[in-house]
Amino acid sequence: MIDLRSDTLTRPTASMRRAMAEAEVGDDVYDEDPTAHALQERVAELFGKQAALFAPTGSMANLLAVASLVGPGQEVLCESRAHILRAELGAHGALMGITSRTWSHPRGQLDLAAVKELYAPDMGPFFVRTTAISVENTHNFAGGSVLPLADLQALRAWATSVGVGVHMDGARIWNAHVATGTPLVEYGAVTDALAVCLSKGLGAPVGSLFVGTHEQIEAARVLRKRMGGGMRQVGVLAAAGLHALDHHVERLAEDHEHAALIAERVGVDPATVETNIVVIDVPDAAAVVARAAEEGVRVGAVGPQRVRLLTHLDVTRADAEQAAKVLAGLV
Ligand SMILES: *Cc1c(COP(=O)(O)O)cnc(C)c1O
Repeated sequence: MIDLRSDTLTRPTASMRRAMAEAEVGDDVYDEDPTAHALQERVAELFGKQAALFAPTGSMANLLAVASLVGPGQEVLCESRAHILRAELGAHGALMGITSRTWSHPRGQLDLAAVKELYAPDMGPFFVRTTAISVENTHNFAGGSVLPLADLQALRAWATSVGVGVHMDGARIWNAHVATGTPLVEYGAVTDALAVCLSKGLGAPVGSLFVGTHEQIEAARVLRKRMGGGMRQVGVLAAAGLHALDHHVERLAEDHEHAALIAERVGVDPATVETNIVVIDVPDAAAVVARAAEEGVRVGAVGPQRVRLLTHLDVTRADAEQAAKVLAGLV
């Protein structure tokens, strides 16, 4: 079975498992896990930030990051299909008292004109105050689209001028980095709070990080524990992340090639496939999903007429060619 439903479906490689087994560990609630420290320091440095904090999931890393910028009764502005809004089960509102308003863009891009129009300064007892703008790079539900650095820099400049924070959901920031060659520090420079995942394209079994300042990370350490995310010998997991950073970043280019190959053969506009996600419009998504599975290819339906697939570490070129052949026969 070639499983293209998500890039979270990867299993740790033999060498990643070895790195995990051999990891030096300590109790991370006591802040004494050397491997967690090594990962946190390395990720902070990659983005040119002061500090980072390991979290069990990308959802928790996003929650810690957004909550570092937005208080209860304040709002974050984001794109209407943002993961923080659609796929985190309302956590930002339900747990943190954060509200939100959105702009919409077919490719999940930043629309600075719309952001400026939505933005609400502090109006005392009259309106909800905007304290952060959130962007997603790459944008999951917009098909893995990349946000151009120039747009992010324009947002940064404006956000600084009005005094609001910038959050980036960088679950797949590695894909954006590899697809465009943009140095990771550039993404660090345009954001105040960044969340990144190790468990997507990088192939680690567990793990995400919130990246920010010493002060933000210190507060996030308390909030993480409060939410039940204080873990003990977490170095076993951090070791998988360090291994992924050593071995699985540059190879994302292969995933992008495989996605482009599938897109081309099933007749999807290549301009809509910037990274490892392919979205195919079909008359009956459920039927395509069922028939593809019968032929050994698992893909997901993301709407009644929309099928989505993702390439990843466990998909070889031969798998991509086989999947393309099956899907081309069905759509
Ligand atoms: C996967 C993902 C997350 C985090 O998901 P978890 O399942 O909580 O790890 C956050 N943002 C985006 C865009 C994602 O694709």
